[in-house]
Amino acid sequence: MDHMEAVLNIKDLTVSFDGFKAVNNLNTSVKNQDIHFFIGPNGAGKTTLLDVICGRVKPFVGNILFEDQKDLTKLSEHEIVELGIGRKFQAPSVFTGITILENMELAVVKKRSLFASLFSKLTKEQTEYILHILQTIGLYEKRYETPISLSHGEKQWLEIGMLLAQQPKLMLLDEPVAGMGRKETEKTGALLKEIAKERSVVVVEHDMEFVRECASTVTVLHEGALLDQGKMEEVQNNPKVIEVYLGR
Ligand code: ADP
Repeated sequence: MDHMEAVLNIKDLTVSFDGFKAVNNLNTSVKNQDIHFFIGPNGAGKTTLLDVICGRVKPFVGNILFEDQKDLTKLSEHEIVELGIGRKFQAPSVFTGITILENMELAVVKKRSLFASLFSKLTKEQTEYILHILQTIGLYEKRYETPISLSHGEKQWLEIGMLLAQQPKLMLLDEPVAGMGRKETEKTGALLKEIAKERSVVVVEHDMEFVRECASTVTVLHEGALLDQGKMEEVQNNPKVIEVYLGR
């Protein structure tokens, strides 16, 4: 797939909760290998959009085409994961009673039972891939420790690594730098750039400095609708965007 091709095409998307439009006639696309941020004030519809992409919420109207073929709005959450779309939630999902390496192994085998997973044998390629990811996320040296010893940022990177272990084509991240200090935020930005060399990344985020650091495309949502889209330098100077953020 080419860099400029759309991995996601969102068409006429409206999501309604008891008549209230959380997403309102949204049309946009996400390009392959983009780090595409969705920003906007609280209640703009960002999380709802991620919920629709991953199949958790079904829209009232509209479609989301993945790689110009599959309409995600017609698929179950499980089918969407199988297509290669992985989501990291804000809440932690690592197992603290096993090592970092074992957490990664679990993520690869994707077995439902923890016990069964720990005793399945990985192939040489799978093991090498895990070690490669551990290096990418900066946790290779700590692989025999349990996640309890990790900082908040390192735990987030482990979760990103666990998502990578499933080799998604599209990664959805919900406020990945929430609670991180500046240094950890910068490292996360560098990690996302590395990750996006081989896949697309969609991020919902509040930290504007982080958006500035690593966004290739920014979409501003307001009251469920698209307010502006482009490079961060462009959208941040749009008077309408400034007005929405300052609440004037
Ligand atoms: P954001 O992530 O941009 O803060 P959300 O997508 O969480 O915005 O919410 C958009 C709007 O939709 C909000 O007004 C929120 O209260 C409403 N909303 C979200 N989910 C539900 C739901 N399950 N039921 C009713 N209203 C909802």
